[in-house]
Amino acid sequence: MPIATFRFYEELNDFLPRHRRKTDFQEGFTGRRSIKDMIESLGVPHAEVDLILVNGESVGFDYIVQDGDRVSVYPIFESLYIQNVTRLRNIPLRRTKFIADSNLRKIVKYMRALGFDVFSHPSLSPQKIIEVSKKENRIILTMSRKLLKFKDVTHGIFIRPGTTEEQIKRILDLLDIRKSIKPFSRCLRCNSLLKTVGKEEIAARIPPKVKAFCDDYSYCSSCDKIYWEGIHFTEMKRVIDRILGHPES
Ligand SMILES: [Zn+2]
Repeated sequence: MPIATFRFYEELNDFLPRHRRKTDFQEGFTGRRSIKDMIESLGVPHAEVDLILVNGESVGFDYIVQDGDRVSVYPIFESLYIQNVTRLRNIPLRRTKFIADSNLRKIVKYMRALGFDVFSHPSLSPQKIIEVSKKENRIILTMSRKLLKFKDVTHGIFIRPGTTEEQIKRILDLLDIRKSIKPFSRCLRCNSLLKTVGKEEIAARIPPKVKAFCDDYSYCSSCDKIYWEGIHFTEMKRVIDRILGHPES
């Protein structure tokens, strides 16, 4: 039986059984097998893979595995540190638009609070998520490995278990998008951009207690919601400061 040697790097190891992590291992195969097919059958969703080297040369997902091949598989952005290789995709990965699974409500809320465009809806089916992701070039955020294995998925991040802060930090680090953060610029409810609005324009709608201490307001014209720096804001700001690594004030 033909045999190929595999090695997975960084967090791609999380998808492998313990004895195969961070080490070379051999895998036998029969017939014509694409590299994408073999990687997925080993448990790693292709959407998390950005670079594959076979015997030191980068190959595409459709490469047919040969007997004796040495395969190195790198996650998204890990490959930024490897020079002189071609990326698997011709569309840039550094996109900052997302579509999230409906069970990631806290991540959606905090990513929007950081200013990122995150589309989400309670009734999104996996098919719809993939369709919107492709049409609008949105990176899929999901806790479902199954979803990331669909062949039409090109950009996706598997959300690992952890606290919301840890999960968001990982997204920011993977995509290197901390520079794009614009806190409290987007509606937490509907994802639209907020506008600054004068106190007098919305005076009738502000509770008197708030009016007394707050002068800055933002307004979402899509869902007609007014935002100000109240109790919820302070709580969110504390979480965001921790995500961004700022000391608590
Ligand atoms: Zn809104």
